[in-house]
Amino acid sequence: MLESEKEFALSAVQAAAAICRRVQSGIALDSLDKKDRSPVTVADFAVQALISGLLAEQFPDDALVGEEGADQLREASAEELRNRVVAEVQAARDDDPTSETVLNWIDRGQAAGGAQGRFWVLDPIDGTKGFLRKEQYAIALALIENGQVQLGVLGCPNLPESMDQPTGPDAGYAFVAVKGQGTEAAKMPADGTLGELSPIAVSSSDDPASARRCESVESGHASHDEMAQIAEKAQMTGEPVRLDSQAKYATVARGESVAYLRLSPDASYTEKIWDHAAGEIVVTEAGGVVTDLLGKPLDFTQGRGLVNNRGIIATNAALHERVVRATAEVLGF
Ligand code: AMP
Ligand code: MG
Repeated sequence: MLESEKEFALSAVQAAAAICRRVQSGIALDSLDKKDRSPVTVADFAVQALISGLLAEQFPDDALVGEEGADQLREASAEELRNRVVAEVQAARDDDPTSETVLNWIDRGQAAGGAQGRFWVLDPIDGTKGFLRKEQYAIALALIENGQVQLGVLGCPNLPESMDQPTGPDAGYAFVAVKGQGTEAAKMPADGTLGELSPIAVSSSDDPASARRCESVESGHASHDEMAQIAEKAQMTGEPVRLDSQAKYATVARGESVAYLRLSPDASYTEKIWDHAAGEIVVTEAGGVVTDLLGKPLDFTQGRGLVNNRGIIATNAALHERVVRATAEVLGF
């Protein structure tokens, strides 16, 4: 089941990773100080255009819910940015799509999602801050059918074999999960190859004290203080590992961390489906559990946002109840 979709998603994410790496290699080390976000903007638009275009060719009836739209790129003042995006997409393909075709592919990603039918979900570059810092980021692509995530691929071009290792030239992993078929991982190094897929599984540990958890780098995306209180209440005393993007889900799926907690400092923040669809199935098919902070399953039927959920708790299953209970105590649910 879903063999051709799986093959498509893996190769689309691999092609996207090549764009990301090429653009990232052009980032000067001091560009963060200058607040020049244009490399990530170029790669973000180019990846959405590339994957959307491939999708339109291979599965023309499927809609796409993508993070980006092309309005900004269509403005006359955006000519330079637009040209850079189009050049990246052209370099990634055998043909030379026009600027208008590229913009239309990006806009094809503006579907509404919802409870019915089949659509894909894309975060072209999740963890934009990590991309700019040359740390962790992910290309996240998922397939949803009638509100259920059926397939997810996470491309993590800078993820080392273990979080204890630095990110080197041989870093890069792809993760793929298909409903009912488990989660697999393969090396996806910068040389453009994709290694053999092999099954991965969450940690079986039920000892919170020896467990490592992970969380966002950005305190604006996740409240480090409150999450530390929850972890303490759950007796998870280890220092959290901080990394950007859905690579956090990947570390839970391969058993390196036992929990990923996400509690926005903004209580009214609605999590977006492209930030979680691929990560959720990668963790659950590896044997883990993903819910919101109240222990409710993520509801992907409500359009572009997870409006029926607040925050995220992803664990190895064995520790899930403990973390949900600790969260309720700290947040007063
Ligand atoms: P992370 O890599 O964990 O920092 O998460 C990156 C994601 O955080 C982005 O893709 C955004 O969609 C999302 N985000 C943006 N603003 C917020 C917020 N106020 N609270 C939680 N998540 C956010
Ligand atoms: Mg994102």
